[in-house]
Amino acid sequence: MAKKLNGTVIVTYRCNAKCTMCNRYKVPSKPEEEITVETIRKLPEMYFTNITGGEPFIREDLKEIVRELYKKSDRIVISTNGFFTDRIVDLCKEFPQVGIRISIEGLEKTNNEIRGLDDGFNRGYTTLKTLVDMGMKDVGFGMTVQDRNAPDLVPLYEISNELDMEFATASLHNSFYFVESNNIIHDRLTVAENFENLINRLLDSNSPKKWFRAYFNHGLINYIFSQKRLLPCDMSFDTFFIDPYGDVMPCNGTKEKEVMGNLNEQSWDELWNSQEAEAVRKKVRCCDRNCWMIGSVSPAMHKYIWKPAFWVVKHKFLHFFKKKKYSMYENKIVRDYRDGKVTKEQLDACSTCENCTANK
Ligand code: SF4
Ligand code: SF4
Repeated sequence: MAKKLNGTVIVTYRCNAKCTMCNRYKVPSKPEEEITVETIRKLPEMYFTNITGGEPFIREDLKEIVRELYKKSDRIVISTNGFFTDRIVDLCKEFPQVGIRISIEGLEKTNNEIRGLDDGFNRGYTTLKTLVDMGMKDVGFGMTVQDRNAPDLVPLYEISNELDMEFATASLHNSFYFVESNNIIHDRLTVAENFENLINRLLDSNSPKKWFRAYFNHGLINYIFSQKRLLPCDMSFDTFFIDPYGDVMPCNGTKEKEVMGNLNEQSWDELWNSQEAEAVRKKVRCCDRNCWMIGSVSPAMHKYIWKPAFWVVKHKFLHFFKKKKYSMYENKIVRDYRDGKVTKEQLDACSTCENCTANK
C-alpha cells in the first residue's frame, strides 16, 4: 500500500482581508479556474490535510470539498481568518471532527491594523467562542508574529489557554505564495524576548504537546536570526501543496512557484513520479531559504523526533530547578548579536527579504 502523504490544498487565492504581510488579495484566482471536486478526487491518501487560501470560506462549495477530502484523509484542519462566522459554524455542524485554526494577529487594535479588516478581531473571536460553545474539540488560534504584534504574543496565548484552545505561531516569510518579498523582523531582540516568554510558559505547562510547541517557537527565534533550519526540509518527498489551478508544488516558501505537475491534466501517479517532480525534489535538497512554517516543520518534527525530544527533555527536566527554563541567549547567534559581533545588516543580508540593502 502506498505511503500516506501530508497535503495542503489551497482552494482559492481570493481573500476578504488585506494583511500587511501578504499581498495575495491583490492577485486572486478567478472562481471559474479554482480547483474542482473532480480534481480533488484524484488526490492520494493522506494522513493529514490542511485546507487554506486566500480565505477558504469564500468558496461556497467548501463543504463539498471537505466531504470529498474526508474520503481520503485521516485528519483535516482548515486555516481561516474567521470572518465568515455563519459559514464556518455551518460547516462545523456537518463535520464536528474538523480542525479550525483562526488567524488572530494580535489584540483588537493590532489585529485589525495588520489584517486590514475593521471588525476582524471581533469576528474572529466570536467565531472561536461560538465553535467552543458548540463543543468543537479541535479549535485554535494562529498568529504571525512580527514587530508590531510581538507584545501581544503572551496575552493571546493566555486567552487561548482560558478557552482551552491550541495556539499556533508563525513569523514573517517571503514567497510567491504571499506575493511578498519585503517581509522582515526589524527589532529581533524584542521579538525574540517575547518568544522566550512564550517558550517558558509552554515549558511550565503539563502538556507534552505544548513542550514540543516550545521547541517550534525556539526554531522561530533561530529563523528570525536568519540561521540554518534546525531540522532538514523534506517537502515534496512525502508532503505536497496543490494550488487553486491544480498545480502541485513542494511547499509555499519558494521565491518563485515550483511546479511538479498539474492534477487537472495528469493522474496523481503520473505527476508524482514524473521527471518534473524529481527535478523539484533535487532543488528542495539544496534549498537555502530556511523557512520555519508549521507545514514543513511538523512533518520534520515527526520524522526526526529524537531532536526535538532531546531538546524537550533538556529544557523540561534538566532545567527543572531553574527559575527560567529557557533563555534566548542559549542561541550563539543571539549572544553574538547582543555583543555586537554580528550586525543587523549582516543578519538582514542572510534573510529572504529583498528590500535589505545587502540583498538588492
Ligand atoms: S495572510 Fe491570509 S488573510 Fe491575510 S491577506 Fe493573505 S491570504 Fe488573506
Ligand atoms: S526551506 Fe523547505 S519549505 Fe522553505 S522554500 Fe525551501 S523547500 Fe520550501
